[in-house]
Amino acid sequence: MTDADLLASSYARLRASLSSRRDDTLPSAALLSAAESSLPRPDHLGYLLPRGAEKTLDHLHEAIVPALNGQNLSGRYLGFVTGSTLPVAEAADNIVSALDQNVQVHLPDQTVCTAVEDAATGMLASLVGLDPAVWNGRTFTTGATASNVLGLACGREFVIAAKKAGASVAELGLLGACGLAGVREVRVLTSMAHSSLFKAAAVLGIGRASVRQLPVSEAEPWRLDLSAVEAALKDEGVVSIIAISAGEVNTGRFATVSMEEMSRVRKLADRYGAWIHVDGAFGVFARVLPDTEEFARVRQFADGMHLADSITADGHKLLNVPYDNGIFLCRHKSMQHAVFQNPNAAYLASGGASAIPSPLNMGIENSRRFRALPAYAVLLSEGRNGIADMFARMVRFARRVAGYIRDSEAYELLPDGDATAAEFGLEAVHIIVLFRARDERLNEELVGRVNGTRKMYVSGTSWAGKKACRIAVSSWRVDVEKDFEVVREVLESVARR
Ligand SMILES: *Cc1c(COP(=O)(O)O)cnc(C)c1O
Repeated sequence: MTDADLLASSYARLRASLSSRRDDTLPSAALLSAAESSLPRPDHLGYLLPRGAEKTLDHLHEAIVPALNGQNLSGRYLGFVTGSTLPVAEAADNIVSALDQNVQVHLPDQTVCTAVEDAATGMLASLVGLDPAVWNGRTFTTGATASNVLGLACGREFVIAAKKAGASVAELGLLGACGLAGVREVRVLTSMAHSSLFKAAAVLGIGRASVRQLPVSEAEPWRLDLSAVEAALKDEGVVSIIAISAGEVNTGRFATVSMEEMSRVRKLADRYGAWIHVDGAFGVFARVLPDTEEFARVRQFADGMHLADSITADGHKLLNVPYDNGIFLCRHKSMQHAVFQNPNAAYLASGGASAIPSPLNMGIENSRRFRALPAYAVLLSEGRNGIADMFARMVRFARRVAGYIRDSEAYELLPDGDATAAEFGLEAVHIIVLFRARDERLNEELVGRVNGTRKMYVSGTSWAGKKACRIAVSSWRVDVEKDFEVVREVLESVARR
């Protein structure tokens, strides 16, 4: 077989087997265990002996593929926040593998890949209503976790240098810079931050214990208490990064709810030399929803992000491009470069001065996948309106399910005592629906029972000390009417048993 035949036949086989799996959420237990027992083990005869490409592909298609879940096959894989992959993005991703570009150094005489990445991040900034000329520190990352590391790293550099010029963590290290600036603690002030923000703090020497949760109230723990933020900013010898959770994973709610609140945050940051990082992994895309009454509230919650210093977004979630794809946007390009430059590597110099920085100087990695291309393809193919429609469909489906749960006898819509929901009703729902069964026994088993139907997949979480169930709508495939009917049937059948 030629290379081209091998690839074409593998792809044809894949498409054929997937076409019979439409709407699967999870593979059966039998397929999972068959796949697992087919994996090579050191005590197996022939371990690590070459099988050849054709036999290897037989194994992949016969054993592995059927045991992969249906998050890209069904609009009812509603766990975590996963997204699916738009067909145009999958096609682009195949091109990425076929040409295997290394997007680290800007080499305009050799390849257009860095220019494509720059165009794509510019379009993304513009999509979410930010001026690409102002948000000129832009890069693709491996995901929101990596983008949060970038955001806190830039913030850490900025807030310490704001205390004392020349106190650069990138140059002197955290201990050296803090010593020079008389800083005893770098803090992250936030509310219901995503777990990855604690990880970022751990990795960067800020420390998980320095992430302070400052919630408005027990009933609305995702909202940031700005008076508490101000009090914390006044502490002597402490510098702070304010991290806005724009889209909290359990509830989908926002830490700030208006332009007015973000303006207050900006004023505080300016007065006390703080940095504002927005974790908008999925929430930032609320800004792209159609500008109509239907989405006015959620758009308002996501307002004012242009006042931040850095923003995290995820491509592999709502934008429906394949893993791994995150985006980092920053208003301080030269500072981002100061932190992430890959210094003193003459052989990695780019071809002359250019407005496009080499990506290896703007983020964590040196060698990098051309992960911009699938995002670029989605932006071109769908455009602003197509993407807005896709997001609108997700929100409508989430609200349809939320409305059903709110009106049902068996289930209770969460969060409890939510003043935002009391004020705005379902208009406050973005793409996440949190709920529990009213019957304690059913609630204990709810997630397992729902997922056991294999007609939909949900995540378990806990809310106010009790188990809860969470639906996150993030696939372009979701069909508001058809998928809602299935979800309603599943939730009703589970409650009847
Ligand atoms: C998913 C998510 C993350 C982590 O994103 P990865 O892409 O999995 O690294 C961070 N923050 C928020 C708000 C998220 O939803």
